[in-house]
Amino acid sequence: MSDTFQLRTKERRRELHHCECGARFEVGHHGDVQETTTTVEVSCPRCGRPKVVAVPRGTERDLLVELRPGPEPEDGGGGGGD
Ligand SMILES: [Zn+2]
Repeated sequence: MSDTFQLRTKERRRELHHCECGARFEVGHHGDVQETTTTVEVSCPRCGRPKVVAVPRGTERDLLVELRPGPEPEDGGGGGGD
C-alpha cells in the first residue's frame, strides 16, 4: 500500500497576535511555515490599526483575520476570593 500522496485538506494555521489596543487576534493562512516568510500589513479587527505580521510567502492574499474573544487578563474578575 502506498501512502505517499496527500489528499488531506490543508488546515489553516493560525497565529496569535496582539494589538496595541489590547485586542488579541489570530491570523490564519494555508501556507507552510517552513516556506520563506514575508511581511504583510493587516488591520486589527477591533480598532483597525495596521499591524505588520509575518506569513509564508504567497499567502498574504488569503489571510483570515479573526478577533479572538476572551477575558482580558487585567479585566478578569470573579473567582479566587481572599
Ligand atoms: Zn487594535
